[in-house]
Formats: sequence, C-alpha cells, structure tokens
Amino acid sequence: MRKINQYIDSVFDPQDSLLEGVITSIKENGMPNISVSPSAGKFLTMLVTISDAKNVLEIGALGGYSGICLARGFGQNGSLTSLELEDKYAKLAENNLTKAGFQNQVTYLTGPALESLEKLAAENKQFDFFFIDADKGNYPNYLEQCIKLAEPNAVIAIDNVLARGSVADDEVEPKRYTTLMQEFNQTVADHPQLDSILVPIGDGITIAQVK
Ligand code: SAM
Repeated sequence: MRKINQYIDSVFDPQDSLLEGVITSIKENGMPNISVSPSAGKFLTMLVTISDAKNVLEIGALGGYSGICLARGFGQNGSLTSLELEDKYAKLAENNLTKAGFQNQVTYLTGPALESLEKLAAENKQFDFFFIDADKGNYPNYLEQCIKLAEPNAVIAIDNVLARGSVADDEVEPKRYTTLMQEFNQTVADHPQLDSILVPIGDGITIAQVK
C-alpha cells in the first residue's frame, strides 16, 4: 500500500509549496505528522468539486492540510466549518487557511467534536459535504451526527478506514484499532441511509452518499 501511494504521489505530484509549508508548520509546532497524504488531499479537493459542495464540515483539523484541500474544492464560493479538540491546532489551521486565501470562509469550533456537533444540530445547521478524520473510537457517533446534519444527497468522506492496511491482513493478530475499523466499515457498508464504497488511497477513504 505504501509503495502504491508513493507511486501515485510521484506521478501526480499533488503537493504544492503551500501544502509543504503546512507540513513544515506542523513540525515546527511539535504537532503530530498525521495529515492526509498528498494524493488523499487531492482526492478530497476533487470530491468536493465534483459533488459541487459549498458547505463543508470537517472533523479533525490538525494544521489545516485537509482543510485547504477541501476549501480548494469549492474555491471562493463556499465555506468550511472545522471541529478541533486542541486550541493550538485550530489556531495553526486557521493561520494556514488564511495563507491559502480562505480567511473569510472558515470557522473553527474548538473542544470535543461531539459537543460541537450537538451545538450545530441545535442551530439547525446543514452541510452538503463532511470529512471525518478525528479520534477513531468516535467514528460511529460522528457518522450518525453527520447524517443528522446532512442535506439530501450529501457526501461523507471518512479517513483511515484501512487502518494502515491491517483491516485486510488476516496473518497478524488484529489490534483494537483494526477491529474498530473493521466493525466501522461493516456498519457503513450495511447502513440503510448510505450508499458507499471504500477507496484505497492514502490510508483508505470511504465515500458515502446520504440517500
Ligand atoms: N484532517 C487533518 C488533516 O489531514 O490535515 C488531520 C487530522 S488528525 C488525523 C486528527 C485530529 O483530530 C487531531 O488534530 C486531533 O487533535 C483531533 N481530535 C482528536 N480527538 C478529537 C475530538 N474528540 N474532537 C475534536 N477533534 C479531535
């Protein structure tokens, strides 16, 4: 998988100097190097563009790498709401989105995402595109909350669904993370309100459309 992703990144070369700057800023701030891969980021941009989404919700901002990729999908005509636990991370992400030219189109809500999602629901907010990329144990909760906040036919993209390839490896003893993602993938696949497929790009991104 790693080789395939390196190959895709090398041929399509989706990371420009601005995104490289985001990675540098994350390292300089001593934050974890766990942004989406360059090709996964480009895939998100294209998903937002192709689905003509204008009102995007992200769960898990880190330093703003995926935020910039999502915002590039709607360009100057759309908005991003991003939920992040850590104040410091949200500030860096906002700073990076500003450098990318999206300063008036992003809102960061800090604190546990489940609380922010409940607040958004109480305000009757709706979104046409979601990107879930935060604490994996809450993925089933995030999925249900996103469905509640979804406009008809909204798209939900979910990261790390391959758990570094371990979900398909029956030769090693599965760790908790692996089992968690296997169960989550089955939940998505069987969900009566979703039409979905898993794409093996980056660490695996599932795309689901709300019926
Ligand atoms: N989407 C980002 C990107 O590709 O640029 C990477 C996100 S990183 C994998 C996961 C993020 O989720 C971290 O920034 C972490 O602080 C945040 N996070 C973890 N638990 C959270 C929670 N309960 N609520 C909100 N954010 C959370």
